Amino acid sequence: MQEKGTISIHTENIFPIIKKFLYSDNEIFLRELVSNAVDATQKIKRLASLGQYSGDLGDTTIDVSFNKKKKTITVSDKGIGMTAEEIKKYINQIAFSGATEFVEKFKEAKDANEIIGKFGLGFYSAFMVADKVEIHTLSREEGAEPAKWVCDGSTEFEISPGDKKTRGTDVILHINKDSEEFLEKHKIQEILDKYAKFLPVPIRFEKKSESVEDGKDEEGNTKWKSVEVDNIINDTTPIWTKSPNDLKDEDYLKFYKELYPFSEDPLFWIHLNVDYPFNLTGVLYFPKIKNEFELQKNKIKLFSRQVFITDEVKDIVPEFLMLLHGVIDSPDIPLNVSRSFLQADSNVKKINNYITKKVADKLAELYKKDRKAYEEKWGDIGLFVKYGMISEDKFYEKGKDFTLLKNTKGEHYTLEEYKDKVKAIQTDKDEQTIYLYATDTNKQDAFIQSAYKKDYDVLQMDSPIDSHFIQHLEGKLEKTQLKRVDSDVVEKLIKKDDGYANLLSEEQSTKVKEIFEKAIDNKTYSVEVEGLSPEELPVTVTMDEFMRRMKDMAQTGGGMGFYGAMPDNYKVGVNGNHPVVDKILKTEDEESQLKLAKQSFDLALLSQGLLKGKDLTAFVKRSVDLI
Ligand code: ADP
Repeated sequence: MQEKGTISIHTENIFPIIKKFLYSDNEIFLRELVSNAVDATQKIKRLASLGQYSGDLGDTTIDVSFNKKKKTITVSDKGIGMTAEEIKKYINQIAFSGATEFVEKFKEAKDANEIIGKFGLGFYSAFMVADKVEIHTLSREEGAEPAKWVCDGSTEFEISPGDKKTRGTDVILHINKDSEEFLEKHKIQEILDKYAKFLPVPIRFEKKSESVEDGKDEEGNTKWKSVEVDNIINDTTPIWTKSPNDLKDEDYLKFYKELYPFSEDPLFWIHLNVDYPFNLTGVLYFPKIKNEFELQKNKIKLFSRQVFITDEVKDIVPEFLMLLHGVIDSPDIPLNVSRSFLQADSNVKKINNYITKKVADKLAELYKKDRKAYEEKWGDIGLFVKYGMISEDKFYEKGKDFTLLKNTKGEHYTLEEYKDKVKAIQTDKDEQTIYLYATDTNKQDAFIQSAYKKDYDVLQMDSPIDSHFIQHLEGKLEKTQLKRVDSDVVEKLIKKDDGYANLLSEEQSTKVKEIFEKAIDNKTYSVEVEGLSPEELPVTVTMDEFMRRMKDMAQTGGGMGFYGAMPDNYKVGVNGNHPVVDKILKTEDEESQLKLAKQSFDLALLSQGLLKGKDLTAFVKRSVDLI
């Protein structure tokens, strides 16, 4: 008996829509069909284990095959199969109950996952690449009749008695003209590798040849022969499905290499495993990042019950942890919804918090367990921690206990320890504690040495994220300011009451200012005469902390484009108490005055590596003349 029917009375034809809208993602048809095959296989296994299926389970390997001549791709399982009634119920009705809605809404859909999930169209994604699909199936029910379903992509389908002799389902796709690329072995292999590599049921794709021993020849040498063996494409128990107790470091490292063949070994990893209130497993790795160019987001792979879904985990993993690598597997993440919905989803929020907490706990544990080792790794870990502290308040609260500050002498301090270290001596007259930092210990050496002379400490802040971290830290720490060591002369960086007075008269100061302005002859430098210790340099060139910081942040993407575009603006501090200034004032002829002023200005530039090209050549020549 043959039965014909119409798939939907509400809809003219949804297949053209499926084809059109899902085209960009059309390779997922294979994911959908193989996932269905896996589900059907797991169901029969479950029934058997519950004693509700008494037949022989047999080998349940799923087969994916293709025939280039006939232009078909076939997915065969030995799962529960379907009766004709079940086909009607699951394939015809379920998929199309939402068809009207589908047609109304398809315009809003952003990607194929969304459409497929929302409308239960997993199976129908086959029509993205096929113009005819057949199902041959035999149900696990005792005495079941085999059934056959054929649909040519119109709204009509046909169910008839089939001839399948063994339990399970074969889905045969007749690949359409536009999709013949999928009839290539490497293409199918590639898609299976992407989506099915860790599915929980063995999947066989074709055969492959392997060399095996074949006895010995007369001289006793081993003979080899080539045999065809099954090409099982997946690892059915990837490490994230196992208990951490059963795993060794090697296992984690091996898995990492499998996922990212070209990466260096990771720093450490976190095994995620929760059942309640949501289900999530996974392994997250902290990669070793050599430089800022290696910062790569979207290296975490998202799975749902071992089916690969996407590597765009934005909104699921906290933003700052996007730099991690690894896998997350959760059936509780709604995969088929729009991004805005995802953000609002309560499970996703919980997952987000959970991952943040796990990462923080792991870092705290590493810190407590072996501080020395932690300090050694800080150069690598610090980036994540700082990024986390900046972008996630919850993480800041935990992170402040295991965040380290490193000074220019290579010593590490926690925030608390550092405060205790510098508070007494680096607090200014307004009770602000000033943390000094250097971003380039070579260029800023003259300033660092001046700070050392006063027994001040200088932090090293040279990673790309530090300009943002400094800004954030300042907002968090009470009565504390951070100043780059070269942003002013040391007396001014930390203003104490016992500062030096400028011993020059007002008239003399004005005169000195004029001489220097004339000697420098460049508007980007503004000259100020100030009273410093005679021990200090006669001239210092500095850039205001605020200005410079805004520029730094603009450079590393702080969204301060306005400041980024501003020209550099330096302050030239002339030390009114320095003997050289006295000498300049006492020099009679103007030319010599200017020469001396220019020379001391150039020396200041030189000490900061700011003197280059023509100016440097002129400086050398002038120095020789002066000698
Ligand atoms: P979903 O898998 O999301 O339920 P599908 O359209 O992919 O949606 O499949 C609809 C239903 O058809 C499945 O829930 C299942 O009951 C049935 N089905 C699909 N493929 C198979 C298969 N290979 N073996 C048994 N049943 C299947």
